[in-house]
Amino acid sequence: MGYLFVFVSGLLIGSFLNVCIYRLPRGESVVTPASSCPSCGSAIRPWDNIPLVSYVILRGRCRHCGGRISPRYPLVELLNGLFYLVVLWRFGLSLNSLFYMVYFSTLIVITFIDIDFQIIPDAITLPGTAAALLLGIFLIPDPFDRGSVLGAKQSILGLLIGGGLFYTVALVSRGGMGGGDIKMMAMVGALTGWKGVLMTTFIGSLAGSIIGISLMLFKGKGRKTRIPFGPFLALGSVVSILYGEELLGLYLRGHP
Ligand SMILES: [Zn+2]
Repeated sequence: MGYLFVFVSGLLIGSFLNVCIYRLPRGESVVTPASSCPSCGSAIRPWDNIPLVSYVILRGRCRHCGGRISPRYPLVELLNGLFYLVVLWRFGLSLNSLFYMVYFSTLIVITFIDIDFQIIPDAITLPGTAAALLLGIFLIPDPFDRGSVLGAKQSILGLLIGGGLFYTVALVSRGGMGGGDIKMMAMVGALTGWKGVLMTTFIGSLAGSIIGISLMLFKGKGRKTRIPFGPFLALGSVVSILYGEELLGLYLRGHP
């Protein structure tokens, strides 16, 4: 029952994340007005706005104009629901789990805004970094040593190293790395410490390279195609929070 409740909550919040992804970069309010069809502008009734279910019943089309509704809407809802399930399964019913759920939702919003607009809004990363610092100092466990709280030293160090590392890359690559990535990594560092920054960067670069090379090979995208880095960093941060301690243990066993 607990799992079902958390999954359904994840779907409902995922529906709100879709609103954030669409409206935040356009400078619109995420609270009002109610959702409307992007094709014909008619208001979407509450019973046509049930996560996943409505999309399937309406076969991905608007009830009024028949315009296509992007499969990304149900995908974001499903992804958020699954994230919540994984957090609950991994960390149980706790305050920390609640904060991780909020964080993972934030990463979903960052991911899709970065894919659409190649930006990561300050409206997310600045309050996000402040919140991550507070949580890191006082409450959230070190993902590489879950028995203890991350603490002030680790959280501040993580913020500086995350921001500093990506600021350096931005300087060296002359615009290859955006300001949004810098602030995002400051947030990641404040929440997961310097080890979190390194693991996130490593996994993000690895995944980014694999996808980048695949796109070049199979879709004929040129070397100059800019692939947003935010989604890969988000993936790296999720993995390091869920499995940081275990992955580091594996690595250290391989390198005694
Ligand atoms: Zn319509």
